[in-house]
Amino acid sequence: MSTKYIFVTGGVLSSLGKGITAASIGTLLKHSGFRVGVLKLDPYINVDPGTMSPLEHGEVFVTKDGAETDLDLGHYERFLDTALTQNNNFTTGRVYKAVIENERLGKYLGKTIQIVPHITNEIKERIIKAGEPKDILIVELGGTTGDMEGMPFLETIRQMKHELGREYVMNIHVTLLPYIRTAGEIKTKPTQHSVQELRRIGITPQMLILRSETHIPNDIRRKVAYSCDVDEKSVIEAIDAPTIYEVPLNFLAQDILEPISKELNLGKLKPDMHLWTDLVSKIIRPTNKTTIAFVGKYLDLKESYKSLTEALIHAGANLDTDVQIKWVDSEKIENNGAKKYLIDCDGILVAGGFGERGVEGKIQAIQYAREEKIPFLGICLGMQLAMVEFARNVLDIKDATSIEFDSNAKNPLIFLIDEFIDSSGSRQVRTSTSPMGGTMRLGEYECNTKEGSKLREAYGDASTIFERHRHRYEANPKYRKVLEEKGMIITGESNGLIEAVEIADHPWFLGVQFHPEFTSRLQNPNPSILAFVKNALGENR
Ligand code: GLN
Repeated sequence: MSTKYIFVTGGVLSSLGKGITAASIGTLLKHSGFRVGVLKLDPYINVDPGTMSPLEHGEVFVTKDGAETDLDLGHYERFLDTALTQNNNFTTGRVYKAVIENERLGKYLGKTIQIVPHITNEIKERIIKAGEPKDILIVELGGTTGDMEGMPFLETIRQMKHELGREYVMNIHVTLLPYIRTAGEIKTKPTQHSVQELRRIGITPQMLILRSETHIPNDIRRKVAYSCDVDEKSVIEAIDAPTIYEVPLNFLAQDILEPISKELNLGKLKPDMHLWTDLVSKIIRPTNKTTIAFVGKYLDLKESYKSLTEALIHAGANLDTDVQIKWVDSEKIENNGAKKYLIDCDGILVAGGFGERGVEGKIQAIQYAREEKIPFLGICLGMQLAMVEFARNVLDIKDATSIEFDSNAKNPLIFLIDEFIDSSGSRQVRTSTSPMGGTMRLGEYECNTKEGSKLREAYGDASTIFERHRHRYEANPKYRKVLEEKGMIITGESNGLIEAVEIADHPWFLGVQFHPEFTSRLQNPNPSILAFVKNALGENR
């Protein structure tokens, strides 16, 4: 069938969980047998979120093909169990950049370049391209209806409905029903106004998804349906759930697929959510429990570790285990020592990061994990620091460090390689004077695992695995021999680059240069993280 489009817009205010809503609908349709794609439209002007501060924007999610995207794309991958690409996310900045470049090349034959049709056509082409091989494309528009930046996108959506017809385009609007405590009432007015605003632009939503703290009484549902001119069956409540993975199940319980199928003429839908339901019940009522110390800096920025915390939930669900995260600020370790914070933990995790702050504390945490033989997973910077720690404390190279922290280091265990072959096979050149953007090793790379290693075992004995990267520095092969002689073994390699290290006489110690968290899904947990949690739980000890 040719692609049908579901556009998800948001009203009243931001942070309503529009991404989770859209992903939940996507997963229900996928489990009904459709090929479902997703597209996130970001109305901000940045060309991509790669250089945006995590303070403002949460995590930078990296796709298989190396695009640095909005963290919502991570939710889509996790809910849809699929790998997305550059084409699944674009911003206003990218659209304008393309149109201006085309204008410079004379592609518009001297015409005056305008928002309609030039910008809207560019948006439309990109939406259609993203949907091409799919039955259904879920398109989430970032921001809130009424935002200035969103206007060209809404106009494009309006045009697409006009051009393709109702059976091919559905509009879902996600809004908030606030509960006013003093009046003891749920209020519908902001939703009514938001729908009026959409209508003014020419879009009439066919379904409303209402975020609410409490269940929505039937009379309120009827009122919303009546005042916003949607079917009562198309007024869906989205109350706060104990886990985001319960949201699709809550929607299904309200027969959300019935009106969607009716609008888009999809026939009778019967999604098989057995496995999903089982995993959700293990998240809500797990049998076992394990505590993982998450050692990092800026821990108040938990959103910037979203994929990793979700990956721990996935591993927990698949092991019927509550994975408790104990957040440990590495700067506190620097002041008070590691033991105080780590003694009651079953596993120690040092995640990725940039810059020097808190690094010494992370190194102390790694030393503690190594010496006390506690299961350890070091990700990206975590692996780099595991090598520095080993060099300093086992090889007695006291000034071992990374070039990232000392550009004149005499013993750079972690350094900047001048040249490497990127995932598309072309040669990339990086030097210490290269600009910050565009010089990272990004996206998926093949990694060859060493026979008999914990890494290979974790991946079901696979000799080749594929994981995603986002880093500038690399482990220095010059130290390989001395490291291995003393028991730090290189167990993963990619075209001569060091991808993983382990410690021979340790129950489970793994450092990986890649970011395993980006490929973890509820129904398909990442093998490194799963093996880590399994060992923390004591199953392999
Ligand atoms: N700062 C390190 C580098 O650029 C590690 C990056 C990371 O952990 N993502 O290589």
